[in-house]
Formats: sequence, structure tokens, C-alpha cells
Amino acid sequence: MFQISKENLMIQKTAREFARKELAELAAHRDAHHEFPGSSLKKMGDMGLMGMLVSETYGGSEIGPVGYALALSEIAYGCASTAVVMSVHNSICCGSIQSFGTDAQKDEFLRPMAQGTCIGAFALTEPEAGSDPQSLSCSAVKEGEHYIINGTKRFITTGKHAGVIILIARTGNNEPGRGLSAFLITHDLPGFSVGRMEDKMGQCASDTTDLLFSDCRVPASRLLGHEGQGFEIAMSGLDDGRIGIAALSLGLGMAALDQSVSYAKQRRQFGKQIAEFQGLRWMLADMDMDVDAARLMVLNAAALKQAGKHCRAQASKAKCYASEMAQRVTGQAIQIHGGYGYIKEYPVERFYRDARITTIYEGTNQIQRIIIANELLKDKKKK
Ligand SMILES: Cc1cc2nc3c(=O)[nH]c(=O)nc-3n(C[C@H](O)[C@H](O)[C@H](O)COP(=O)(O)OP(=O)(O)OC[C@H]3O[C@@H](n4cnc5c(N)ncnc54)[C@H](O)[C@@H]3O)c2cc1C
Repeated sequence: MFQISKENLMIQKTAREFARKELAELAAHRDAHHEFPGSSLKKMGDMGLMGMLVSETYGGSEIGPVGYALALSEIAYGCASTAVVMSVHNSICCGSIQSFGTDAQKDEFLRPMAQGTCIGAFALTEPEAGSDPQSLSCSAVKEGEHYIINGTKRFITTGKHAGVIILIARTGNNEPGRGLSAFLITHDLPGFSVGRMEDKMGQCASDTTDLLFSDCRVPASRLLGHEGQGFEIAMSGLDDGRIGIAALSLGLGMAALDQSVSYAKQRRQFGKQIAEFQGLRWMLADMDMDVDAARLMVLNAAALKQAGKHCRAQASKAKCYASEMAQRVTGQAIQIHGGYGYIKEYPVERFYRDARITTIYEGTNQIQRIIIANELLKDKKKK
């Protein structure tokens, strides 16, 4: 068993109680009505869950990656839509501003973000650029003290509700890793608007939108990091984000397993509990092993991150394994529920839909395997 500090166990307990009392109760309604969990996110801000990686100097709770991963799994147990907003906000957005922002940017954005009063979004993907961010075409051209931005971003989580969006746009040529820059975008900027809202299979309470830039004038003070540093900022944010998505997937697996155990003990066929049939006992045992293996990989990646060690491969392995576990385990949960598992009245139907995207966003699992293989094959001295 991993040694988990008292402080981290406490934050896990707080997140668990909140997720099971409030989020799980509201999740089905929010999913059905595509209702953004704004009121719950506000409470999560008050509980310190929205600034978990932000230093205390900027009002964060500075819990660190292990406590964060534990808390995020608990939030996903209650509602995966809320968890994805929390993950993008904490890992990618707060993390990037904390690492690359100026003091003025931290004062303006990081402080309210750490309180949960300003939610972050991250805009990298475009209609023609997904797995290959080097090919993105959204452009930012310097004109005096402003950048003029033109282009479209696609599939942006919290695109509509975010208070600040980290935009990755092209400021230079296609030279690998150098032609992209990051900007802090707010909804009041002229020439910026939110486009179509996607109608999705799962995680329906989180909004996924297009972002449209038409001669959008962004003050040069909104450049995050320096010009040409956008690729580095995006990749470092995604390394952290993958631990978040792994933790989210773990929470879905945990929830599906618990529902399955309770249903198997309560449902009777052939005069006995279905939990007595060996076919289902073995399935439950497999699910339990799968969830445990994912938990260890998530904690391993988070612990390495916390220790300041290089953890790119471990983050990708955790994301890959935990997301595939979530798909297996939520599918098995439906099987154990029989026909009822396919009906919306039972939460496993939602878990199954919510789990499907986890192998796709923040880098598909094919891309994760490329990262893992690259790390494995690279010169050991450089590791
Ligand atoms: C609900 C949702 C939320 C999202 N949130 C965000 C967000 O907040 N911000 C953001 O920027 N993006 C977001 N995305 C976008 C997401 O990250 C991309 O969809 C994902 O990275 C894949 O890009 P793509 O859809 O263009 O697929 P493509 O890149 O076109 O890939 C299609 C298929 O080809 C495979 N493939 C591509 N290249 C290779 C290769 N070299 N080797 C092997 N296989 C390969 C892929 O694995 C995939 O199976 C979100 C997407 C969804 C659906």
C-alpha cells in the first residue's frame, strides 16, 4: 500500500463526502439536461479543490499531485463531467499559469482560479489539427502592442463557461516546437466568440465548444511565457493533464465496481443472489484487480510528479491503462446489471458513456503509446 499522508487522506475524505452527497445526487439530472455544474464548482473552490496545485502565495491549497489525484478520483466517482472541468482547470490551466505566468498574470488570473471563481479552459485542438498540434493554423500576428488572432478551435472543454482560456496559436513558421505561442483569452476581447456546442455521447454536463477568432485583438501583455514557447507550455500542461484524466478514469472504475458489488448482492435469480454465481464472482474479481492496478499507476505517476522527477512516460502509462480499465470495468458493470444496466435509471449506463472519451482526449491512447515507446527507446543517459 502506498504511504499516503494524513493531509492527503483528509482531502480525499472531504472530496469523497462531497462527491457522494452532492455530485452523485445531481449527476443524472445534469447529464440529461446538459447542465453545467457551476454551483458545485463554486463549492469546490471554497473547499480548496480548484487550486490544488497553486502555491499558497496565490491563494492555492498547494496540496500537490498525490492529494490532487486522490481528490479528483473521488469527484469523478460522483460526476465525471465535474471532474473533467476540475482536471483541465487544475492541471493544465492553473499549472501552466503557475509555471509560465508573470506576477501580474498570476495576480489577475491565478488568484481567482485558485478560489474557483474563474474557471480555466485550454484550447489547442482545431478542426484540422488534433493529434498533430504542430500543424495547427490559428494565427497570432503582432501589431504594435497587440496580437491579432484569426482561426477556429474545436472541442474545447468549458469553452463557454471559462473565465480564462489558454489559447495555443501560431506566431511563427512550422519549425518544430518553436512556431507556437500561448495566450490568455477572456470573453470580453473584441473578435472572440463561442461557436457551436457539441452534442456528446457522455460527460454531457461539461460544455464542449468551438471558439472563433476573427481579427481578435489581444493585448501583448496576455502572452503567456515568451513568443515561441507555446508548444512547450502545451506539452508540459498535457503531461500533468494526463495524470488528471487517469485519476478521473480511476474514479469511474471505482464507482462502476461499487455499483456492481451492491447490485450483485441484491439481485436474485435461480433462488439465490447473483453474487453467488462463479461467472460473476470472477468478473467482479477481475474488475477489482483492474481498478487496483490503475490506482497504483495513477499514484505512481502522481508521486513521481510530486517528487519533481521526470514522469512523462508514467503519466502516459497511467492515462492509457486507467482509461482502458474504465472502459472495461464500466462495460462489465453493465453486464452484471443485465438489462437494467442498459437503462438510464441505473448510473452504470452513464458511467459507460462517460468513460468512452477518456481514451481520446488529452492525447489519444495511440499517441500515449508513441510517447511511452519514445521514452523507452531514448538514450538512457538522456532519461
Ligand atoms: C469531449 C471532448 C473534449 C475535449 N476537450 C479538449 C480541450 O479542452 N482542449 C483541446 O484542445 N482539445 C480537446 N479535445 C480534443 C481532443 O484532445 C482530440 O479530439 C484528440 O486529441 C484527437 O484529435 P482528433 O479528434 O483530431 O483525432 P485525430 O488526430 O484526427 O486522430 C484520429 C485517429 O487517428 C489516430 N492517430 C492520429 N495520429 C496517429 C499516429 N501518429 N499514430 C497512430 N495513430 C494516430 C488517433 O489515435 C485516432 O484514433 C476534446 C475532445 C472531445 C471529444
